Amino acid sequence: MSYEQDFKVFRSSIGLGLMALRSFEVSDELIEYQGKRLLNDDTYGMDNRYLFYLNDTYCIDGSDRSNLARYINHSCSPNAQAVVSYDETSITIEAIEPIEAGDEIVIDYGEEYFQAFIEPIGCKCAKCGG
Ligand SMILES: [Zn+2]
Repeated sequence: MSYEQDFKVFRSSIGLGLMALRSFEVSDELIEYQGKRLLNDDTYGMDNRYLFYLNDTYCIDGSDRSNLARYINHSCSPNAQAVVSYDETSITIEAIEPIEAGDEIVIDYGEEYFQAFIEPIGCKCAKCGG
């Protein structure tokens, strides 16, 4: 599925980000986090920040640039969230706030990622004053 009509990658104040090109309502599905499904066991030691965990066994490797959802930045005041499907095979980004055309899509990356990669350099999201 292509999302190029609804989203574009843009240069935000903290690097590349993903912008909505139209409005969405709360709980709308925005975009799938697309990529190869890998065994978690095969990812140990892998230098890849785009692994998104489905469960204890599998994750999605979203590092391919065709996965527009990989450009979604972290925010401590997110307007979207990642939801794992019931069968734990896919991840969809859903709106948790009304989104207007021109808004950046941001999600909370979660405590583990935050502590590992964001806290050491300081969070630059809109809420933290970046
Ligand atoms: Zn923040």
